[in-house]
Amino acid sequence: MPILLALLGLLVGALASHVAEAVMVKRPLAKPVCPYCTAPYAPPQWSATLALVTGQGRCHTCGKLFRWPRLIGELFTALSWGLLVGLNGLHLRVIFAMLTVIPLTMIMVTDLETRLVPNLIMLPAIGVMSVIGTIFGPALPTLTTWEWWYAPAGGLLALIVLWLFVTVGVAAFGPGAMGEGDITLATYTGLVVGFPLIIISLLLMIVFGGIGAAGVVVARKGSLKTAIPYGPFIILGCVVTLLWGPQILHWFLT
Ligand SMILES: [Zn+2]
Repeated sequence: MPILLALLGLLVGALASHVAEAVMVKRPLAKPVCPYCTAPYAPPQWSATLALVTGQGRCHTCGKLFRWPRLIGELFTALSWGLLVGLNGLHLRVIFAMLTVIPLTMIMVTDLETRLVPNLIMLPAIGVMSVIGTIFGPALPTLTTWEWWYAPAGGLLALIVLWLFVTVGVAAFGPGAMGEGDITLATYTGLVVGFPLIIISLLLMIVFGGIGAAGVVVARKGSLKTAIPYGPFIILGCVVTLLWGPQILHWFLT
């Protein structure tokens, strides 16, 4: 079952990446085309993973490889869905959690490709999650009891913390280190995991971000001038919290 859901995640991930790219470049939603020469992709190329597996990673017209964030988006969705079901079985709350991953996939793709977190994706996601989160609680698969304010409080806390981060970051390093998009993205993740687990999610974000920044410094021999996108770390923090948040919290408290 987890493998089946991971495959479904791959498919949904491909679709979500495609929609995200269309939103990002503001083109109407149509069949996938090569981002470089706009030649239509053959069906096996509609999924970056499938294209890679079938040896059709390159555009048949211009010969350029697909944009790699699409592959990341697909594998990210497949892995998240597979793990969510593998760890928790398949029930309504798990499906809820799986659905909340879809906007994260979309931002994973747009942020890695262009450092953009489109409001056209994030604002509806925040709106829907505010309502559903207040009624059904945060999207944690293992949640059994909750109060109506858990999800809104999580969103609000993430908004305040990221707003502080961005304000301090811009004051210290100038614009570009982190952006407004990181605030909306974090607000969404706060609604998804809710209070108090958003604290774990944000701590994981800092840890992953630190590891990522250190990796960039080592790879580029001490230069952090090319700001790295911070969105993927916010996203990873959120998904790891969906998967193991309660255990991590328990481990912290004991
Ligand atoms: Zn092409």
